[in-house]
Amino acid sequence: MRYLTTVSAMACVAVLTIPSPLTAAGDHAHNPANTISTDVGHPDSFRHFAPELPAMQARIPEANTEFGLHVSEIEPGLFFITDFIYQSAFLVTDEGVVVFDAPPSFGDRHRAVIEMSAPGVPITHFILSHKHADHNGGGYAFGDIEGLTVIAAQASADSLAANPLRGVLKPNQTFDESLSLTVGGVPIELQTANFHANDTDVIIHLPQQKFLMAIDTITPGEAPFMNFGATSNLEGYMAGFDTFLSYDFEHFLSGHVSVLGKRQDVETARDYAFDVRDTVYSLWPSFLERFGANIDLTGYQNGNLAYRMTMEDVRDECAAQIIDRWEDKLSVVDLWADSHCETVVLHAIMH
Ligand SMILES: [Zn+2]
Repeated sequence: MRYLTTVSAMACVAVLTIPSPLTAAGDHAHNPANTISTDVGHPDSFRHFAPELPAMQARIPEANTEFGLHVSEIEPGLFFITDFIYQSAFLVTDEGVVVFDAPPSFGDRHRAVIEMSAPGVPITHFILSHKHADHNGGGYAFGDIEGLTVIAAQASADSLAANPLRGVLKPNQTFDESLSLTVGGVPIELQTANFHANDTDVIIHLPQQKFLMAIDTITPGEAPFMNFGATSNLEGYMAGFDTFLSYDFEHFLSGHVSVLGKRQDVETARDYAFDVRDTVYSLWPSFLERFGANIDLTGYQNGNLAYRMTMEDVRDECAAQIIDRWEDKLSVVDLWADSHCETVVLHAIMH
């Protein structure tokens, strides 16, 4: 927080001497940043946002089950499943079925789809990518399976023991950093990492199937979700790309939207994220100068206001550059770029 001391000092000195050009509170309606208006005539109307790119729309799979879900066997025995907002996978082996995550939005349909795809095969393993209930709160649908091995990182198990989350199964097998197991002759590699959740994430790798699963990272074909997948660790998020790309994989399951990722999607998302970071860093040397201009403009009456204006200046200039460079390459860049720039701005202030 190296700039805040400067802000306070400047504001305190200035408030005694300089008259304020600010209008009185309530003189006009304030339009908060990042607000999308439902009023079609408003400058921030939802109508100003671009639709998904045709290239992205062409990749969206079809609902191909009576349950409204899409299910496909992407490699022999390995099934991808999506409700078009969330994604998970399951592996059918001679020994039993391994389930990777259970979003609650799938609900009871999840078991039905597995039974449809692998009739009569028992479900023996359930592996959590991370603790969050939006990806694993559907665990309840598997809770009555006797002898089910529920695997999670120790840190997730500890966190769930302290704060149980609705519908998330209690792990009965844990590991600290990595775990290799074989189910029905199929190797499964688990490795902890820190790119999203505040305790730990798990990277799931099936080497024979060239399948990698790292949840809440990228959104294939689209700009990442708000604040880089709502990450609690930006440095870990940025470092994640090299970690993912160090694996041998073709399929990349990232947990969101309906499109299953490929290696190229991870490379594109990496290039996008680093472009956002580099853009904020290129603007950063002008931060104090911009702040000086804003505190002049606001009459030295409110250092916090001038500071926020400066953060918004940098964020908005970054977002304009990013949208310009990326809007033809990824969908919904115009919707999320400001949040990505803001995430880096906040990070730059604190580090
Ligand atoms: Zn999550």
